[in-house]
Amino acid sequence: MASARYSLAATPILEAASPPVCSSCHRIIPPGEHGVAFPCPNCGKVIIIRCRKCRQLSVPYKCPNCGFVGP
Ligand SMILES: [Zn+2]
Ligand SMILES: [Zn+2]
Repeated sequence: MASARYSLAATPILEAASPPVCSSCHRIIPPGEHGVAFPCPNCGKVIIIRCRKCRQLSVPYKCPNCGFVGP
């Protein structure tokens, strides 16, 4: 049986048909860049995506659903 491993922390972005866009700088994250995607910590309804640069610089992001701003 496949073992599902879920983490509350940020998880690596899986390669998708459409390129992920960073929620902080709105830059398309190229394949191979280690961006992260995680649900909004406030509402949990939106997947926040951050590129490697914004993650390292702790650039704030804003949830498009609830307006939550966080590091
Ligand atoms: Zn970014
Ligand atoms: Zn939210």
